[in-house]
Amino acid sequence: MDRERQRPVSGRSGVVVIGSGFGGFFAARRLRRLRVDVTVLAATDSFLYTPLLPDVAVGTVDPRSVLIPLASTLRGVTIVRGQADRVDLNSQTVHYTDARGQQAELGYRRLLLAPGSVTKLLPIPGLSDHAIGLKTATEALYLREKVLAQLEAATTITDAARRREALTFVVVGAGHAGVELTAQMARLAHNLVPLYPGVTRDDVRWLLVDVADEVMPELGGSLGRSALRLLRRRGVDVRLGVSVERVRDHEVALTDGTRVRCGTLVWCAGVVGNPLIEALGLPTSKGRLVVDKVLRVPQHHDVYAIGDAAAVPDLTKPQDEHGQRPLCPPTAQHAMRQATAVARNIVADLDGRPLRPYRHHDLGLVVDLGGPDAAATPVGFRLRGRLAKAVTLGYHLYALPTGKRRIRVAVDWAIAGKRPDDVSLRSLPQSAALIVNAEDGGPAIS
Ligand SMILES: Cc1cc2nc3c(=O)[nH]c(=O)nc-3n(C[C@H](O)[C@H](O)[C@H](O)COP(=O)(O)OP(=O)(O)OC[C@H]3O[C@@H](n4cnc5c(N)ncnc54)[C@H](O)[C@@H]3O)c2cc1C
Repeated sequence: MDRERQRPVSGRSGVVVIGSGFGGFFAARRLRRLRVDVTVLAATDSFLYTPLLPDVAVGTVDPRSVLIPLASTLRGVTIVRGQADRVDLNSQTVHYTDARGQQAELGYRRLLLAPGSVTKLLPIPGLSDHAIGLKTATEALYLREKVLAQLEAATTITDAARRREALTFVVVGAGHAGVELTAQMARLAHNLVPLYPGVTRDDVRWLLVDVADEVMPELGGSLGRSALRLLRRRGVDVRLGVSVERVRDHEVALTDGTRVRCGTLVWCAGVVGNPLIEALGLPTSKGRLVVDKVLRVPQHHDVYAIGDAAAVPDLTKPQDEHGQRPLCPPTAQHAMRQATAVARNIVADLDGRPLRPYRHHDLGLVVDLGGPDAAATPVGFRLRGRLAKAVTLGYHLYALPTGKRRIRVAVDWAIAGKRPDDVSLRSLPQSAALIVNAEDGGPAIS
């Protein structure tokens, strides 16, 4: 009976999805429910719930809790482990490298591109040799291990300047990820210091750098300012209107002439579309594939794109004087809604019915600042403190895609307390966490 309901309706076959993140995962799940025969080409065997990566980095959430296995959650979907190398749009073929390193191909009738974005690396000397990102579980875990390892190492460093250097962490990018990470990490380090003899709170320094003149402008004036005050209260040295000029081993030179001796550089300064998109040779905007309002590529009606990889016009915003609308921001919130919309449109397309435009009013954002602190703007309300925290945690529990993961994350939070009880396994070399190695699709230079 169940199998009968799952069987594809005649003609609803040959759909290939590239990527198993917010866009690809939810689109594949919806397509399957709509009785479409769908294949997902996935670089990893799981869907990563990225909004909790800062929690993984501080150790309040176990990495496995935010990795949702595809095999058990996308039942009925064919999952092919591999990395898409290129798409031949004329022969409707995806060329990929499979998990064993072999070249292979997948034919499609309809293609959904959802390979997400990569960290935007700027052409700054030394940056790619030293910067760690925060886009994968490996990077978050490495950061966690690095903080613990540096604290431990500092106990045997007698020279005060060298100890301070080892315990200086520079985060570049005061957007959502950078602010959450720095606020939570600064609190964690403060709470951990008493466990490390010889290390004082003054030895630990967090520096948050951004070229913009405010933190998290998307939070809006007063909430952004209150996040800034909180960061400073936690001892974070926030440098606004400043960027990075050069990176060397243990030294970051800022554009204001300051040289910071540091042990760790974290780069959270934005994203650009996955390199797979540029390789298509189709029109892009900031590395994102230009699609129309039904999420389809105008030049190829058998190809759709969503999420961070797609430049989707935001139909809830007015047109400018050239008739252009702003793009939907690269957020999980949009990727998930676009997934539902595109699944519906692909089915309509296969059935020969009209497609519907994608329109989603932003529901606001949630920012976990660690401990009892958060900021949230649910449906236009502006919240901070414990109420914002409750909304933030509640939102993540709601958005996680399975009951098991909700329970795991809730338990992780409950037992973490002020000082998550964790050890550094030193299992990851820095090279594994460098942005150029850790992210699918490699680096993007713009
Ligand atoms: C630290 C952090 C915190 C965030 N917090 C929030 C938040 O609170 N709220 C919010 O709305 N958004 C948040 N975001 C943004 C959100 O994660 C992205 O907007 C969202 O993941 C985009 O979904 P996507 O499907 O386009 O890409 P992704 O979720 O990145 O998925 C892309 C998938 O494609 C796979 N892939 C890539 N290249 C290939 C290839 N060549 N072949 C096969 N597979 C490939 C990847 O492995 C990945 O599984 C956060 C991001 C980060 C990094």
